[in-house]
Amino acid sequence: MLSYEKLFIDGAWVAPLDGSIEETINPATGKPWAKVAFGGARDIDKAVEAAKRALSGPWGKMTAIERGTLLRRLADLYQANANALAELETKDSGRALRESRMDVGSHHQWYRWFASVAETRRGNTIPIDDTVHAYTSEVPVGVVGAITPWNVPLMITAWKLAPALAAGCTIVLKPAEQTPVTSLEFARLVEEAGFPPGVVNVVPGIGSIAGAALSSHRDVDKVSFTGEGQTAKTILQNSTGNMKRFSFELGGKAPHIIFEDADLEQAINAATNSSWALCGQSCALGARVLVQRSVYERVVEGFAERAKQVKVGNPSDPSIHMGPQAHGEQLSKTLSYIQSGVDEGARLVSGGKCLTEGDLAGGFFIEPTVFADVSNNMKIAREEIFGPVACLIPFETEDEAIAIANDSEFGLASGLWTRDMGRAHRVSSQIKAGMVWVNTYRYIRWSTPYGGMKASGWGRENGLEAMSQYLEVKTTIMSTTSRFP
Ligand code: NAD
Repeated sequence: MLSYEKLFIDGAWVAPLDGSIEETINPATGKPWAKVAFGGARDIDKAVEAAKRALSGPWGKMTAIERGTLLRRLADLYQANANALAELETKDSGRALRESRMDVGSHHQWYRWFASVAETRRGNTIPIDDTVHAYTSEVPVGVVGAITPWNVPLMITAWKLAPALAAGCTIVLKPAEQTPVTSLEFARLVEEAGFPPGVVNVVPGIGSIAGAALSSHRDVDKVSFTGEGQTAKTILQNSTGNMKRFSFELGGKAPHIIFEDADLEQAINAATNSSWALCGQSCALGARVLVQRSVYERVVEGFAERAKQVKVGNPSDPSIHMGPQAHGEQLSKTLSYIQSGVDEGARLVSGGKCLTEGDLAGGFFIEPTVFADVSNNMKIAREEIFGPVACLIPFETEDEAIAIANDSEFGLASGLWTRDMGRAHRVSSQIKAGMVWVNTYRYIRWSTPYGGMKASGWGRENGLEAMSQYLEVKTTIMSTTSRFP
């Protein structure tokens, strides 16, 4: 069993003050595979104090170029260690290694790109008249509490920490209790890169203990949270102490629309891939596949055929397409949604069952599942399942597709497939979602803003917009005469 029995606080590896040592479970076996230090409220206090001190230490005095140099050093180390990190992420989260390698192998770009952004930020001058000179500058928000979920731990860490560090903030990172290991490996890279003590602190722990202590802490200036909407509401209720800033990346129920004039092979490939990637545990999945009636049965058949080709198994085997669900509770949740789809009259075309035979015994495996004839009123179309369950909904006209797409409390991602570029613009402009992919899906870059409308959250990650979330604008207005204007 691997051992990670220390927290990373103030540049040092320390035992928890009021936390505990917990075992973390490999979802492919259902058995413990690592021992990890979990922090309590006193550990969070200590980490926040260190982060606050670091703001006024050497880090706070660094130029953007110096911060950029450290970020690039971290990027180099990250790139050199990406394969090892991917293997650990797969053990901890159950995500198929072929996916983890592709994903984790790209994260160094976040640290590099935001290093460049840091170096090119500047303020504005505001013309008034010759008696007054007015200009804006940007200053870091301060101490950031970064709280991450279990589905893609290192990716979300990069999305939050790269812009926050580029902006000059300091950080206390609280990873999800189910997948804490890679954040501690990440802390080793931060240490090796030579960041001053206290700039990045990593404290795994239970959400209602360490997460609550961090998000309600008076000396935390901003909380950057990714997770469930209900948790975000709890965080808001608990955070009345100071007027801290928040960004929330929450759930989704993305409409993925296939029009009759689409390249159907490509569309089916993308839609099936995005239904089962990450074993369905992604907020941006095309969870509602809307298909125009004239091509509907062909698409249903395409989904059924491809479901049979998905290799489910030990996620550390690079030939496997889909690993287990990340934890037992998520597996039970997915199964209960599948039962509700059956009860509400959706047509179960493929899958729907746990896989428990042979090597899969003990793990949280489930078949890729396809429901056809789903109505947008059914629970499986309205709530986020977070499992590998595709819900196919037929539609007749463009207007109907837009109406169904927007009939959701969520507004994170969406996608559409058509060869008619007029339609592509028309439909994408009417969909209420933070992202619209046209003739592609789940294409994400460090430079493209990502985030949701409606119940999918507040703020954006990635892109220049992400950097703004970690900066405050300061306006200076200066008299150029000796008179009071
Ligand atoms: P979760 O809300 O249960 O947990 C997320 C984090 O919050 C964990 O670190 C947890 O320990 C912490 N937490 C729990 N209770 C807390 C509290 N009272 N105070 C402070 N922190 C607390 O979410 P999850 O189950 O880990 O993740 C799945 C959810 O995340 C899904 O809804 C998914 O859509 C969403 N998600 C969104 C995005 C996005 O970018 N929009 C990306 C990935 C996941």
